[in-house]
Amino acid sequence: MLTKVERLARISVRGVVQGVGFRPFIYRLAQEHNLKGWVRNTSGNVEIEVEGDEETVDSFLSDLKTEAPPMARIENVEVTFYPTKGYTEFQIGESLSREGQYQLVSPDVATCEDCKAEIFSSDDRRFGYPFTNCTNCGPRFTIIEDIPYDRPKTTMREFEMCPQCQREYHDPLDRRFHAQPNACPQCGPSLELVDGDGEPVEGGNVIEAASDLLKAGGILAVKGLGGFQLACDATSEEAINTLRARKRRSSKPLAVMIATLEDIEKHCLVSPEERKLLESPQCPIVLLRWKHGSNISPAVAPNLNYLGVMLPYTPLHHLLLKETGLPLVMTSGNLSEEPIAKDNDEALTRLKGIADYFLLHNRGIYARYDDSVCMVEGVPQVIRRARGYAPYPIFLPFKSKQILACGAELKNTFCLTKDEHAFLSQHIGDMENEETLEHFENTIGLYKKLFRVEPEIIAYDMHPEYLATKYALEAGAKESLKLVPVQHHHAHIVSCLAENKVEGPVIGVAFDGTGYGTDGTIWGGEFLLADWKNFKRVGHLEYVPLPGGEVAIKKPYRMALSYLYSLLGEDFSLEGLPLSRLESAELAIIKQQLKRGINSPLTSSAGRLFDAVSALAGVRGEIDYEAQAAIELEMLAPDEVDESASYPLSIDEEGGIGVVKLKELFSAVVQDVRNQIPLPVISLKFHNTVAQIITEMCKLIARESGINQVALSGGVFQNRLLLKLATAALQREGFSVLTHHLVPGNDGGISLGQAVIANFVSI
Ligand code: ZN
Ligand code: ZN
Ligand code: FE
Repeated sequence: MLTKVERLARISVRGVVQGVGFRPFIYRLAQEHNLKGWVRNTSGNVEIEVEGDEETVDSFLSDLKTEAPPMARIENVEVTFYPTKGYTEFQIGESLSREGQYQLVSPDVATCEDCKAEIFSSDDRRFGYPFTNCTNCGPRFTIIEDIPYDRPKTTMREFEMCPQCQREYHDPLDRRFHAQPNACPQCGPSLELVDGDGEPVEGGNVIEAASDLLKAGGILAVKGLGGFQLACDATSEEAINTLRARKRRSSKPLAVMIATLEDIEKHCLVSPEERKLLESPQCPIVLLRWKHGSNISPAVAPNLNYLGVMLPYTPLHHLLLKETGLPLVMTSGNLSEEPIAKDNDEALTRLKGIADYFLLHNRGIYARYDDSVCMVEGVPQVIRRARGYAPYPIFLPFKSKQILACGAELKNTFCLTKDEHAFLSQHIGDMENEETLEHFENTIGLYKKLFRVEPEIIAYDMHPEYLATKYALEAGAKESLKLVPVQHHHAHIVSCLAENKVEGPVIGVAFDGTGYGTDGTIWGGEFLLADWKNFKRVGHLEYVPLPGGEVAIKKPYRMALSYLYSLLGEDFSLEGLPLSRLESAELAIIKQQLKRGINSPLTSSAGRLFDAVSALAGVRGEIDYEAQAAIELEMLAPDEVDESASYPLSIDEEGGIGVVKLKELFSAVVQDVRNQIPLPVISLKFHNTVAQIITEMCKLIARESGINQVALSGGVFQNRLLLKLATAALQREGFSVLTHHLVPGNDGGISLGQAVIANFVSI
């Protein structure tokens, strides 16, 4: 018989392994295998030493990888062997902070089934307690101020655990062993309900009182996980209209929170993929097909066939939803496009006059964190990446330099890279005001601290007027960083390449609203040959003027006029078109602007093409949220898609570049509108045509370049119909098609592309 050789294994585990119940898991695993030693957190990894014979250590290691807790994500495990030291027990050691090291931080996690069961069982000591959590769920990123992740470095430090919570916290066999935000009604955070002036509402159960206010049609500001939300009864048109008027958000769709999946299915169609997303630990808002007959007010998402829906993701939400028995509008607590309010005082000031009452609590929020938004079109796609996803990195297929990429103007995110990690920030917002810029700067500071990133390079969009660009130039000069400007659509395509781990070159189709071109015009309907480092513009939509600049974006009828007069002649008659209702004075001004090119930059934007057709067909001439005209045009298309009907198009070659000519398309649309062809038909024909533009141009480019892989990026591909049609058509032609999944295809993904490009440009 062989004698078993005892040895000491020193194990380093990297990934999301802190704040997810990893040490108790290791403790239990060591007990099971009868191994002695210790486990501890450091600022770089989880370290383990175990002593035992070879076979036992091997099976311990294999269980470590396969049985890890649900929220853990093991990125890499390294093992080295040494002679034994003679440990006599297995312990959880003190955490260790090491200079310069960092590790991944868990996103916040939706309430787990065990915790949910506790808050709803009357004999549990956490019955009805809105801050219940455990190692498998609860706040993480939003409360962490620094690493390693331990209670004193979180906003929970102010709460001293009661003896019972202490016992759970120190018992390795308890679900709350080392759960840093552990709390109970005796010792943890508590709720308070106050009115619009901050005066406490007296008496009774707070959740019941808050629910009564909601049921009576009131607007309630709720302090959630990453900031305040504004809630109201989603079945009450009156409540919604009041909220809209106060929030100055007249028609942008609002998200709805619904208590259970079963209830969601009363209002929406839910596919198996969508169900998986809704119930995932990330618990995002998912855009679902809205059923006819749902009693959720149409005012929640006017003119849309999709509803943004999420399940409750904190105990507070669960309790509120159950108590009201209503689907609740749950939208970011902010005025228009300011960042979400996070502190009690801040909310009472900024949301004054918007909310009737405030449901406050005293657990501090360190990082602002909006709800994430996903859609499923074939595969799931994150279109706003925040709660549940950030700050988990996107893994790069190479080791990156340390870079700060500042992102774009709208839907801003930034990205910091280090090693093979791209720390794509949570959604920051539209960089159009001081508050958002401040949020951007603070969050960069937090990520630099958490992940110990000291950028040597700063990447930014070429648009000179973007606040993020101005920030980059200033910060870059101050800290003498290498500055790398990146073209907007190149960044779009590379963000798609990076998340698909493809280097290129590919044919990049970047369709969006606005991006600064290398020739100073506004690009947005672009065909590029692109890889991680370089790009060449090989095709684009025909240029037309943007009469009045920004105004033309808010008023799509201006774009319709621009196309008509530029392509069909300045004498073109508006007779028989919805546009003929325009006032002649404004019409004369627009005509002058177009004729003389006053404040009318040229654009090849695909977003503007959609706007123009929408306005021309009479769907929407003025918008009050981004892409509204295009979205409403998409919504009109019939469910049964017939791909045969389309409008004519042609592609000319101008100086080696393919230019999509749109004159025939507009003549044909005009004819259809004058002939009163139903809008669903026009919408479908137009979408088919855009899909054809994409395939025809890609075929031309493929013939020249021999490349048959296409990457689709840019906000226009949030149009599901177009995404579906274009992908199918390209695949039929033999192209392999890359699309977005983890990273938004809209400008929220720009910073990732910028970072990757900067890494290779600066070699
Ligand atoms: Zn839990
Ligand atoms: Zn307690
Ligand atoms: Fe863009």
